[in-house]
Amino acid sequence: MYILVINAGSSSLKYQLLDMTNESAIAKGLCERIGIDGRLVHETEKGKHTADCAMPDHAAAMEIVIAALLDANHGVLKSKDEIKAVGHRVVHGGETFTASAQITDEIEAAIESVSDLAPLHNPPNLTGIRACKKQMPGVPQVAVFDTAFHQTMPEKAYLYAIDYDLYKKHKIRRYGFHGTSHKYVSERAVDMLGKPASQLKIVTCHLGNGVSLCAVNGGVSVDTSMGMTPLEGLAMGTRCGDIDPAVVQYIMEKECISAQQAGDMLNKKSGVLGISGVSSDFRDLCAAANEGNERAAAAMEVFAYRVAGYVGRYAACMNGLDAVVFTAGIGENDCGIREKVCAYLTWFGIEIDPAKNAKRGEALDISTPSAKVRVLVIPTNEELVIARDTKAILKF
Ligand code: ADP
Repeated sequence: MYILVINAGSSSLKYQLLDMTNESAIAKGLCERIGIDGRLVHETEKGKHTADCAMPDHAAAMEIVIAALLDANHGVLKSKDEIKAVGHRVVHGGETFTASAQITDEIEAAIESVSDLAPLHNPPNLTGIRACKKQMPGVPQVAVFDTAFHQTMPEKAYLYAIDYDLYKKHKIRRYGFHGTSHKYVSERAVDMLGKPASQLKIVTCHLGNGVSLCAVNGGVSVDTSMGMTPLEGLAMGTRCGDIDPAVVQYIMEKECISAQQAGDMLNKKSGVLGISGVSSDFRDLCAAANEGNERAAAAMEVFAYRVAGYVGRYAACMNGLDAVVFTAGIGENDCGIREKVCAYLTWFGIEIDPAKNAKRGEALDISTPSAKVRVLVIPTNEELVIARDTKAILKF
């Protein structure tokens, strides 16, 4: 049984077709520059196919995706009827969605009603949903929310220390993101640790372009570092993470910029890119630091220091720690960052084996046998979580 997973952005649409009989991805790809000109990158076991094709809107992009999946040379399907369901990544579910939901007109309206909380993400996600409805009428669709896994957070973790009326009136609170990734790797960690989830306190570290940590106690999220938006928390590729909120007004005054421009600066020109002036990509930062670039080295130090600090915070909040999990682009691949983070945490009983830390590409326990707290590297798979949820919601 095939499930198509869609992640629609403002000018892009990522897709993955999964065969749920063995949970394998049989095709994946990306439509870029939607509304500009249009480019398709489509990958199967037969190889990579790229093409420039007109994509005036997301519906046109979806038509091209379906054509690619059916193509005689690089396709994987005989008929589009083989696609039994579509699972969509939806960034913000607000307080409305504590779990995934089958998309109906009411659910679409509910997604729209929380769009103010994620104006850059939810509208394109909805566009993707509508494009699929147009191209595949009658095929059931499910929305899987980045925020849903964190809806188990207690009030003390999600309330900001601001006027409570602002929470009641505008829903200003911590929501957290990357929920599908934190869910997936925390469940894999439970399997690897061989104990019931109810007995485990885990900190999952999703270190990619966006970075967030999550405290998972007894199998549920009890705290996470991103907030009402994905700007809060750790230093990221281009996002500042935690700063004194007074800095925003100060930058606006000193640089004579608007609130919108200040927001852009903190979202797009900050983080490790802002500190280093080199790149948001850790491969570039590492190369620059090795050549003596001090700002690149400083950016990596700030990054690792903050990750370690949040692990300590969550160990305190959960009053214990059994395992730390590294995942996503940096967490899975950058053994240097893992080493830097873990070096701060020896007091907690963390000790990693350098030879195991140097390995890549598989789920692995990289701690020494005597370490009190396990350190795991687990490749994330957000598409699989979306496909599994879609299958479960539709009772396939
Ligand atoms: P996204 O948040 O966009 O899904 P990813 O999880 O793919 O991002 O992470 C992307 C980041 O992972 C890149 O910007 C880069 O910094 C980092 N990365 C990817 N591969 C490596 C590598 N081999 N070594 C170090 N960092 C890497």
